[in-house]
Amino acid sequence: MSFQQALTAHFPNAMPEADFVGRTYQALLKHGFNEPNTIACVSVCRDELTAPLVKKIYQTWGEAFNLSSLAGMLFAGKTGFQAAEGHAPKEGGRQRYTYFALPHIALGAEGEVGLCYRPGRAEASGACGALIAFYQEMVGGQLSLQLNPDDIEQSLLKQHLFRKIKYGQVPDLITLTKLTYQTILEDLERMISLTVDPAGSDYAVLTGIQIHDPDQKDYVWPGTLYVVVNGQRHELSV
Ligand SMILES: [Zn+2]
Repeated sequence: MSFQQALTAHFPNAMPEADFVGRTYQALLKHGFNEPNTIACVSVCRDELTAPLVKKIYQTWGEAFNLSSLAGMLFAGKTGFQAAEGHAPKEGGRQRYTYFALPHIALGAEGEVGLCYRPGRAEASGACGALIAFYQEMVGGQLSLQLNPDDIEQSLLKQHLFRKIKYGQVPDLITLTKLTYQTILEDLERMISLTVDPAGSDYAVLTGIQIHDPDQKDYVWPGTLYVVVNGQRHELSV
């Protein structure tokens, strides 16, 4: 199986990440969002592999508020969200936020799930490393779900994701990545419900999964995409 075949099989409708950022921007222009009147908030994995997507978001929306944790999980909490929202421009008495939230995964040249190579290292590496570590703990039967003060983000990640996993089953990395996407979406919507007042603010939810190819080109599988303007939800198509 080639990379392209694996991409199509696992993530139908994935597109180059520049298209994802450009098309969502164009879609949001029609709803009154633009670079000067909006703050972008971004949550991706801490892995440097995710940086090209973040740079494209900066180039399109300007500097963004960083909500990122391991695997793109949203652990900034109400304080982090309220800070981001409190930094938004005001235009005509309204504030606008875009929330980009995406976990990531690598696919190898022959479609190997999770495989990537990193500059200066001959041996194979993996992405997302945090999800692979969680997967390996489950496979090894050594899963710890306690909050570890020396490993805060990874232990919170495991606690949040474990609720989605059926008892006795270990999902493969593709399934685990999709469960992570679903968890991030739910956590994002919960944080929005706790911190955003739609009476004075419009916002866009822009979620999906970032996929790294073997040639340093990245793709995005578009997930749930919508905008809320004056309290009314509109789906976005890209
Ligand atoms: Zn990662």
